[in-house]
Amino acid sequence: MSTTDYRRLIPRTDDLLAMPGVAAAREWLSETEIRRVITEAQQQVRDGEGLPQDVGRTILERLARRESASLTPVINATGVVIHTNLGRAPLSAGARRAVERAAGYADVEMDLATGVRSTRGAGTKAALLAACPAAEDALVVNNGAAALLLAVTALGATSTWGTAANDRAPGDIVVSRGELVEIGAGFRLTDLMETTGARLREVGTTNRTHAADYERVLGATVGCVLKVHPSNFRVEGFTSGVEVAALRALIDAHEAAGGRRIPLIVDLGSGLIDPDPTIPDEPDLTGALRAGADVVIASGDKLLGGPQAGILLGTRAAVGVIAKHPLARAVRADKLALAALEATLRGGQTPVGAALHATSEELRARTDRLAEHVSAAAHTSAFEVVPHDGRVGGGGAPGVPLPGWALALPEEYAPLLRTGSTPVVPRVSQSQCLVDLRCVAPEHEQALAEAIAAVATALSTVTTVDSTTKDGFA
Ligand SMILES: *Cc1c(COP(=O)(O)O)cnc(C)c1O
Repeated sequence: MSTTDYRRLIPRTDDLLAMPGVAAAREWLSETEIRRVITEAQQQVRDGEGLPQDVGRTILERLARRESASLTPVINATGVVIHTNLGRAPLSAGARRAVERAAGYADVEMDLATGVRSTRGAGTKAALLAACPAAEDALVVNNGAAALLLAVTALGATSTWGTAANDRAPGDIVVSRGELVEIGAGFRLTDLMETTGARLREVGTTNRTHAADYERVLGATVGCVLKVHPSNFRVEGFTSGVEVAALRALIDAHEAAGGRRIPLIVDLGSGLIDPDPTIPDEPDLTGALRAGADVVIASGDKLLGGPQAGILLGTRAAVGVIAKHPLARAVRADKLALAALEATLRGGQTPVGAALHATSEELRARTDRLAEHVSAAAHTSAFEVVPHDGRVGGGGAPGVPLPGWALALPEEYAPLLRTGSTPVVPRVSQSQCLVDLRCVAPEHEQALAEAIAAVATALSTVTTVDSTTKDGFA
């Protein structure tokens, strides 16, 4: 058959576009994307790869696998609960449902009873205040960094709070040298704060800061006092810091002596609303507010277990000033985040809560069961179940181990698990591929077992072929 004849057998684009399977793909893929898949498949046959009669089937297979968004769901088998590289907190079923409901037109800023404009995020604010009664008011913005930027900008002017917009000279931000945090990937809170034009007034030393260090600098040029929770590192040994209550007392004394009212901003990051005995040293929002913070800041997608969001809780006066600042509009939360956050707060246990509180005994039983399933499915001898500590991760409680278990596989499993049809991200440590079930939802256990069994089968096939070949040449 000549090349021209062969080409003639490749189905025409119009016929391929008319296949019923292509119509289904139009629900999530554009015409351009569909045509690209078709053209590629036709071209491959012209280039001598594959047969003309298989083009239609190849296209349908590729369309079924082609997603319109590239983010791919993964199974987090690392044991790290708040894994920044894996999107931090997974949303609860309730939050996913709320996102779906808010995705179309929704009454984001309309009171349906009267048909007039209403306040954006009112439901989310009510849920926050119900969850944290120590706060008088609340505001939700895009993320924790935005909340911090907004708070120091709006409250940190040297003029009295809430004065006219043309009187916003940024005052110094007083912060301990032990709290100058880099939050990840080279982003430093210090750099962020300096973008406001404010000067950082560092006090104390890396390991120790005393009340007198703050007291010395409180004066007319100070815009705000900021306390930052070192949520991703721990300094041990000869250390001391100044608690929120002590800072409140210093600021009150300054004001009583005729000084300006200096706002006290506390950035906790992790977002624990109340104390949690599993992570006893992690400070909570309620505690910081009771101790006298004007405003506390947290991320929505760390220990709170919700969507990416920046949460500001505090006094009516402080949050009122922050909400009215022009920058608040630039960092506002989107409707999907507002919906997911409200549902997270009003729902029951979050996946983050479940992972954090999973007991060692439960994890042992689940991991033993996984080991049995995998061994049976892959016809391999039993894999070992070993003790393995989980971690809270970038969201807080640095260095605190969460005792549990892991299925120990050979290290070569790791890349194959990550790139399988259900991507699994294990932990690789000391030449082992460790599969920790702490962050794996029970409904994903089956898929996880199948993914591991598939790798075991693939690797045993490769080994057999290799040894046969070697034997053949020996
Ligand atoms: C995580 C964190 C931030 C940044 O919050 P994002 O939601 O990631 O923007 C700021 N401050 C502290 C103390 C944090 O832990």
